[in-house]
Amino acid sequence: MTVLMVLAVITVIMLLAFFRASIWGWLLAAIVLVAGVSMLYSISGDALTATVITLGVVVLVMGVPFMRRLLISNFILKVFRKILPQVSQTEQEALDAGTVWWDGELFSGHPNWRKLLAYARPALSAEEQSFVDNETEQLCAMIDDWDVTHVRQDLPPQVWQFIKDKGFFGMIIPKEYGGLQFSALAHSAVVAKLASRSATAAVTVMVPNSLGPAELLLHYGTKEQKDKYLNRLAKGLEVPCFALTGPFAGSDAGSIPDTGVVCKGEFNGQKDVLGLRMNWEKRYITLSPVATLLGIAFKLYDPDHLLGAEEARGITLALIPTNTPGVKTGRRHFPLNSAFQNGPTSGTDVFIPLEYIIGGQERIGQGWRMLMECLAAGRSISLPASATGAAKLSARTSGAYGRVRKQFKMPVGKFEGVEEALARIGGNVYMMEATRVLTASAVDMGEKPSVISAIAKYHCTERSRSVINDAMDLHGGKGICMGPDNYLARAYQQIPIGITVEGANILTRSLIIFGQGAVRAHPYVLREIKAAHNPDKKQALLDFDAALWGHVSFSMSNAVRALVFGLTGGRGVDAPTEAPTRRYYQQLTRYSSGFAFAADVAMLVLGGSLKRREKISARLGDVLSQMYLCSATLKRFEDDGRPEADLPLLHWSMQDALFRIQEAFDGVLQNFPNRLAAWLLRRLIFPLGKGAMPPSDALGHQVATMLMQPGSARDRLTVGMHIPRDEKDAVGALEAALLSTLKCEPVQASLAKARKEGKLTSRDELEQIAEAGKLGLINSEQVQLLQRDYALRRKIIMVDDFDPAQLPAG
Ligand SMILES: Cc1cc2nc3c(=O)[nH]c(=O)nc-3n(C[C@H](O)[C@H](O)[C@H](O)COP(=O)(O)OP(=O)(O)OC[C@H]3O[C@@H](n4cnc5c(N)ncnc54)[C@H](O)[C@@H]3O)c2cc1C
Repeated sequence: MTVLMVLAVITVIMLLAFFRASIWGWLLAAIVLVAGVSMLYSISGDALTATVITLGVVVLVMGVPFMRRLLISNFILKVFRKILPQVSQTEQEALDAGTVWWDGELFSGHPNWRKLLAYARPALSAEEQSFVDNETEQLCAMIDDWDVTHVRQDLPPQVWQFIKDKGFFGMIIPKEYGGLQFSALAHSAVVAKLASRSATAAVTVMVPNSLGPAELLLHYGTKEQKDKYLNRLAKGLEVPCFALTGPFAGSDAGSIPDTGVVCKGEFNGQKDVLGLRMNWEKRYITLSPVATLLGIAFKLYDPDHLLGAEEARGITLALIPTNTPGVKTGRRHFPLNSAFQNGPTSGTDVFIPLEYIIGGQERIGQGWRMLMECLAAGRSISLPASATGAAKLSARTSGAYGRVRKQFKMPVGKFEGVEEALARIGGNVYMMEATRVLTASAVDMGEKPSVISAIAKYHCTERSRSVINDAMDLHGGKGICMGPDNYLARAYQQIPIGITVEGANILTRSLIIFGQGAVRAHPYVLREIKAAHNPDKKQALLDFDAALWGHVSFSMSNAVRALVFGLTGGRGVDAPTEAPTRRYYQQLTRYSSGFAFAADVAMLVLGGSLKRREKISARLGDVLSQMYLCSATLKRFEDDGRPEADLPLLHWSMQDALFRIQEAFDGVLQNFPNRLAAWLLRRLIFPLGKGAMPPSDALGHQVATMLMQPGSARDRLTVGMHIPRDEKDAVGALEAALLSTLKCEPVQASLAKARKEGKLTSRDELEQIAEAGKLGLINSEQVQLLQRDYALRRKIIMVDDFDPAQLPAG
């Protein structure tokens, strides 16, 4: 009976926790339990009295809100205030910026998958689609990337002009100011297509549309500033850049030493103009060598109190025409053989009037907040798009090259070792495109998803690095020897640029994704922190009490859910679809519960030191990230209409990501400093051990085969990239060679047979074709087919060679 009783108690506790019972639910259960045990075991006398008194005290203290707040929540609030990590103002503004979106669901332990699938299928408007299909295609076709990156180290003048004339610089600017007013999805589609042709063009176009003068003016500019600049920016009459980074302030951009000191000076012949004496030294600034309008971040000081009592007024942003006396621009850096304009800028005692401050005087000191608020939208678009565009180019060309290039009488892509690389390429690109689209569409829904933009930026650029590395290996020497016919090497060289900018990746993974997510996307932590900082003590306690007990119930629920779903592998969990995706939703819900509980335990046990425990934070961020990538992938599959042919890509990418989730959890548990907590977490999250497996070889084979086979699945995988049709172009020739190879293989097989039987004696391939034609083994049409096939194959196999005098760049 005792055993049954214990089992019943455990079951009731688990049910209460699972369904997140209220405090009174728990108390009522405790009362029933005590009454039941007392009756069953005939407890009476002093023992019963003591039990009833204890229970009464618990009910009084926990059940009466006033008592609970006074005696328990108040005490915990005091301890909480002590362990709260010190957060600087710049960190706080970064934490506060942007919105919580699907990351909130993933942090909830119970994502609402139906909500995800109910988001409208992302689509371009007719006008946007036409711009992608026409102007963007035209721009791609105008670019010879070798000429751009090697010969002239710049885009040719006609390309610059085309970019300006067609409005590429004004994609985010509203039509009323002469811009294109495109959606984030369209902006992303344009950048992705350009990146599949030329990183230089993609970066040149994306920077004016990302965090910079136009975006800042749109949100914070005064009417005069908007009227003065937006039209000119949209038409490319002004070329903008934005300068935050300097030699001594890189990742820690809030520590910029650049200054603007309030003073009076002479401006445009006028004396005693109230303005700023500016001094700055910035580097790595994209477009600065050719910019006409320099956006700049600096710290504003008012030592003579010309504007007010405060001397140090904080980070402020200004727009300075680069022809202002004293502004230095023009010199160039040379970032990894890219030819986009990038360089340093400096200024010594440059006088500017106060009207140059973005948003005018009332925005003094708000620069960091302005930057952080605008960061998420741009970060959701530019890097995910450019990384995905380059990865699509790698995927399409790798599939084709793997099929056309033969060694040991076999297409190299059919060797199992190469298949592994092709499978990774396919799975990664499928997931990257899903992530690109979902993240951009979140911006179109009005979100500024700060954590999700960091996830998309980090994982698209990292996966792009993996894809391009695999593509390079698959291409062998063809990828290595540079020249006009090498379509991969520049992408390979330039991938670390995307990794470094807009928050270098190591920092993004280690500090931002989980660090910011845990505060922003967690349903209770931000409320607790806000309450702890509230100077109104009464309200603080009220808010903290509500958040704290909600948090406790949330945490207990996730612990039990993680255990139960760990035992069932998520089976039985509600999912919005049937096979073949149902199990993925169930497993993700399981991991979401485990993640939410692990996050709570990490914050409870490590407190403020979690900020320094970057390896733990990074791995928890990996779990969150992979769950987001999986969400995007499942949504993509539904939005694409559940194409049967895409199943290998879906399965490979989902199974790979679920395996990565398991390994990231394992990394947290192996290294968690508190071993007891680690033991508990492992029992709850993996009660039956680790079960997830990486994608099988057979699945990888299916993905690789798809990449080497022209068809709808391959086209969907690389949708939106620029595919040249001109056979003089290296990629165009490769496309043609793939089709030709497949068409010619049966004829080539018959020639091989004839050779074996001694009917053909020529050794050279072209001579053999001619001989077979003469002997009537093949007809004249087949002769032509085989000759063209040989020419195409030769074109794609050959690499560029140079007269030594030609090699030094012009
Ligand atoms: C080609 C290019 C274009 C750029 N364009 C612009 C532009 O237009 N405007 C502009 O203002 N800036 C621009 N940047 C600057 C870019 O944003 C910075 O390079 C970036 O912020 C990193 O700074 P850093 O290079 O000084 O690296 P550092 O800050 O020196 O970082 C070095 C390494 O340390 C890591 N790290 C630093 N702090 C932490 C931490 N707390 N935890 C974990 N890891 C950490 C970083 O991840 C990085 O891996 C550009 C840079 C490049 C290379």
